[in-house]
This record gives sequence, C-alpha cells and structure tokens, in this order.
Amino acid sequence: MRDANGGGEPPPPHSEPSGAGMPPAEFPHLRQAGRIGSLDLPHRLMMGSMHLGLEGPGADVDRLCRFYTDRVAGGAALIVTGGIAVSPEGAGEGGAYFHFGRGKDEDALERIAAAVRRAGGRVAAQLFHAGRYARSAEIGAQPVAPSAVASRLNPRDPPRALGADELPALAERFAAAAARARDLGFHAVELMGSEGYLLNEFLAPATNRREDGWGGSAEGRRRFPVLVARRTVEAAGPGCPVLYRISGADLVEGGTPWEDTLAFAAALEDAGIAALDVGIGWHEAPVPTVGMLVPRAAFAAVAARLRAAARVPVIAANRINTPEVAERVIASGAADFVSAARPFLADPAFARKALEGRAHRINVCVACNQACLDRVLGRPPRPASCLVNPAAGREAAFEPARAATPRRVAVVGGGPAGLECARVLGARGHDVTLFEGEGALGGQLRHAMRVPGKGEFAETLRYFTAELAALGVRVELRARPEPAELRAWDAVVLASGVRPRVPAETELPGVGLPHVAAYPDVFAGRVAVGERVAIIGGGGVACDLAHFLTESGPASPEALAFLTEYGVLPPDGALRALGARRQVTLMRRGERIAPLLGLTTRWALLGTLRRRGVRMLTGVRYLGVTGGGVRVVVEDREELVPADTVVLACGQEPRDELRADLEGTVPLRVIGGARAAGELDAARAIAEGAEAGLAVG
Ligand code: SF4
Repeated sequence: MRDANGGGEPPPPHSEPSGAGMPPAEFPHLRQAGRIGSLDLPHRLMMGSMHLGLEGPGADVDRLCRFYTDRVAGGAALIVTGGIAVSPEGAGEGGAYFHFGRGKDEDALERIAAAVRRAGGRVAAQLFHAGRYARSAEIGAQPVAPSAVASRLNPRDPPRALGADELPALAERFAAAAARARDLGFHAVELMGSEGYLLNEFLAPATNRREDGWGGSAEGRRRFPVLVARRTVEAAGPGCPVLYRISGADLVEGGTPWEDTLAFAAALEDAGIAALDVGIGWHEAPVPTVGMLVPRAAFAAVAARLRAAARVPVIAANRINTPEVAERVIASGAADFVSAARPFLADPAFARKALEGRAHRINVCVACNQACLDRVLGRPPRPASCLVNPAAGREAAFEPARAATPRRVAVVGGGPAGLECARVLGARGHDVTLFEGEGALGGQLRHAMRVPGKGEFAETLRYFTAELAALGVRVELRARPEPAELRAWDAVVLASGVRPRVPAETELPGVGLPHVAAYPDVFAGRVAVGERVAIIGGGGVACDLAHFLTESGPASPEALAFLTEYGVLPPDGALRALGARRQVTLMRRGERIAPLLGLTTRWALLGTLRRRGVRMLTGVRYLGVTGGGVRVVVEDREELVPADTVVLACGQEPRDELRADLEGTVPLRVIGGARAAGELDAARAIAEGAEAGLAVG
C-alpha cells in the first residue's frame, strides 16, 4: 500500500544551505533526542496540526506535499497533519477536509506521507471529528454530539445526540482510520480530543448531559473517548504510536473539571496512548488562547500540571513562538516536547535555524491570526497563509528564483512592503538599496510595536534587519532620493507607505486647532496627550491607539501584578488603575467598531477596551472640534465629547508623490500603502512586497 517513491511530488527544497558548521551548544534541552512510543525523534520541536484550507475534494496535492516537505527540510522533528475526518459528519468547519474512506482523499494522503518519508521526515495523521462544530450546510447532515446542545458559534444549527448504539461503531471509525493512516504511510496518529471537538464534548458536563452510561458521571463522560483511544491504539499496532490531543483547560462554563482531566489522562495512558499533546480552550472560549494578547508560553503551566502526574511524554503548545521560549518550557520541566504550529507557517525552517545557531534569522510568528486562522475560519473560508511569510501554503509560487541578470534596484520605503521586497530581491541576487526617509526601518511596524500585545512585531523588524544584512542589501536611512537620482537605477520599487488622512476644515471644522494630532505623532510620542482623549475614527488603528493610550497608566504592569497579588488592589481594580490615567472615546461614522479586524482577535481587543472604560460611539455625525472636545450627533442627540487631545485616526492616504515623477521614466512598481491606502494591512503590504520582489526581471 505504501508508495516509498511517492508520485510526482516536487523534490523537497532546502530554504537554507545545510552544513553550517558545528552547531553551537545553544538550546541544550531542545536539541535532546526524544521518543514517543516506538518513534525516535531527533529533538524536541514538533510541528503541530494546522488545517490549511487546502485539503478536501479539490486539494492541490502538489502544493500540500511542498508545504509539508518544506517543514521537513526546516527541521520539524515530527509533523502532525491538519485534521482528517474519520466520518463524513465529522468534517470540520468549512468542509474542506480530507476524509478517511474517500478514495481520492486517501490517494492524496498517501502521496503526502510518501513525500514526507522521502524527504526524511516523520508525519502523524490527525484523526478528527468536529462534533457539534460541524455545520449541516457543509456536511449535508445534522451534526452529531453527545447531547443536543448547540454551540455558541452556530446556535441555529443544533446537533442531534448520538444514539448509544452508534457509539461503538463510531469508535471503530477512529480505529479503522488509524489502521488506514498507518497503511498509507503515516508514522503515527493523533486523536483530536481538545478545542471543543467531539471527543472533548463527551468529557464536559456542559455538552454531555447523557444519563445512559456514556455520561452522567466523570467516568461515564470519559467512557467514549477512552474507548476510542483503546480501539485506536489496538488498531494502529505497536509500530504506530497514538498521540492524544487532550484539552488541558476547556475555558468554558461547564467545561471539564481539572480532576476529571487528570483521571482521563491516566485512563488514556492505561489505554496505551503514547503522548499527551496539551490543547487549550474551546473555539467558543471567552479567553484568548493563541492571539497576541496571550503572553508567550502562558499555558505551559497547564502542561506542567499534567506532566506532574503523567507516565508518557507531555507536549506543550500555544504561543511558544521562539526557540528561547521553547527551551525554557522544556528546561523548566513543564513538558517533554514543544508543538509549534503557526511558527512553522511563519518560518518553515523554524527548528533548523534554532538548532543550527541561526535563531536570529527566524521569521517569528507574531500571533496575529490575520492570514492563517482568520482566513480558514472566515466565511467563506480561504486557504491559510501567513502575514509575515506570504509564501506559506504557496511555496512554489513564491520561490525566490535566482535572477538571470542581476539588476540595480532601488526600493523606496522601509516599511513592511519595502522590507519584504528588498529581502526577496536580495535573495534573488539583485543589487538592492533600500531608502528609508526616517532614522529607523519599520514604517507602520514601529507604531504597531508600541501597542500592548503587539510587541511581537519587534521580532519581524529584527528578522528583516538580519536578513537584509545577510543578503547584502544596502540600507540608507534618512534618505529621500530625488526622482532624477532614481531614474539612474535599473528598476525602482515605490513602497513609501501612507500618511494619515486629515479632513479638510470644511469637513471637520476646528481640525486645525492645536490640541488635534494625527495618530502617528501620538504613537511616536511626538505630542503630549491629555487625560481625556477623543479619537476620530473607529477602525483597527483607532482601537490600537485606544489600547496604547489606556496602557500607560501610573503603574507598570509588573507593579500592578505585585499590588494585586498582595491585595493592595482588587483584581478588577488593577485594570481600572491601568487605564485610570486617561478617559478615551472612540468615534465612528459606521455602525460597527473595527469591522475589518479579524474574527479571532476582534472580540478580545474590544473586550479589553471595554474593561478599560473606553467609550465607543458608532453612527456618529461630526459637527466639529472645539477647545473642549468634539461636538457630535449620536442617535439624533447632540453632545460634546470632552477631550484635552483629539486624535485623527480616520484613514490614510497613499504617500506616492514620486509616482508621477517616475512613471514612464524608469521601470517602476508601486506597492503597499503607496499603491492603495486603506485600513493598515501588513499582510497585504508584505505579500505585495514579495510579489514585486519576484516580478523584477
Ligand atoms: Fe503567525 Fe500571524 Fe503568520 Fe498566523 S498569520 S502564522 S498568527 S504571523
């Protein structure tokens, strides 16, 4: 059954030359060899499961093979595939899932396993059943669950309760899928039992209300997932270890109690599970679990609690995005392995660079979710990619082929679009100079870095700086080349970004008053901001600004944590004190604040702003700015929004003056904000940078 030679996949590419000399003794715990069941692993960094939105009936298998083999070349010790449905009604959100038992899908899976094997990697198939998270419109049937309890995510699509007589047969579906995965060439399988999917739903009192022996008590609630685990282990056999993605914390009301989780973990071990891969939080949990607001490795403590009692290796996940953090997790004894998923989207060579002494060149996942989860979970769903690595999922199309004729290329603008463009041009062997008008690279990234929870963008800037230096790209700061100068280049890429839109006096009377400032000046600290702030605009930038302005209270976060721990401040008081310094009002003409923010992050950011007392007004008509604030009409009532400082965050305009001077005189490409301003969108800017870098002949 296994095709050791695969079938037509492209050869595994190597994004970096190998043999970088003797690796330094960095990350001693990460580089230790490990073992999961019968599977020997060369080190402790695994790639966790990600649904890419490329799977399913219309799958581009070459593209998937290339995606996975790039991560093999990038050093992942073990790769876990995106979820593969064990039965038709178990397919996940969006419907674009592979199914066991569907011939074409199994052919694709066999090719993927063969490609990974040929590249020298190890791959586990994730066995998946979405339970009540499935959507009837996508699976063509009513979703199933332990009990007929609808999810908050699709309340109008309630599941039907599985019949007691259906459960042993469903367990056999998992078992058969494991045997099939093994026969298709997978090294291991993982049972998806967290994030609120079917197996997880059986454990939680909120979703398992059965009284028939498959619920009713902790033992009854775990009976089905334990049966699934036992039958899967038996069917997979001794040469194919079974990992279990266990929910360490459901983070929903009526979720699995901790003592039930511990007892369940022990029962899984008795059933022969080879490793516990710890997931955190259901998709409907009101607690951020993977976004930027989550501190790095915040949930490693949950893995540590499980590991204290575990007899098999424990794998920690969630916001472990650098090798330094992963090393600390392993060294602290919190886990035996680290599973990083999005970090391998952001940089396929995440593990390899870490272990070869090139951690400073890792393109770090900034946990924005913008180009991965928000796309896959969006309606309609779109394939996953990555904000900082637009090549993710499109590796062949974004291959930086060596230029046949190296050219002298000027890139004007050192924001995200210009940085990525210069990097790609440099990687292709062009002679590149990057001109930046300010005294530092980064452009809008520098604003973003100042926003609480967005400090990860400093990593993006560090990555680009390291790459440009390694590729020999010249960087000229405080440089604003004249058109005549630029015409001497073989090609010019204009990536000069945006400037804030400033309404005319006729549109917003009083806009020229001295206490009115544009958002970049506030982010950069160029203006003094008063205690009461009115923000004109309610998009993503305005929300970031409100977050930024309510962070800088009188005490540091460390001081607040200390004061809260010792009861000097009550827990709620800590947040109030944090934002106490400023009273901020966001105003928007439209009906929704930040409508373009991502599905997975908008709710968390708006929740934070609400807790900080930020007032949010929608449907606003502006009458004008006065010395005391902004006069507006809201719901047919006129009011003065009091403000010492009024900040304009009501859009951007392209900064593209050079365009008219250069067009027709030199090969020119205009990208990013300079091409089209709008909501700041680093994903678009970086992708356009990459495309322009590839397009220069
Ligand atoms: Fe990470 Fe954002 Fe890329 Fe997703 S899109 S992998 S969260 S950097």
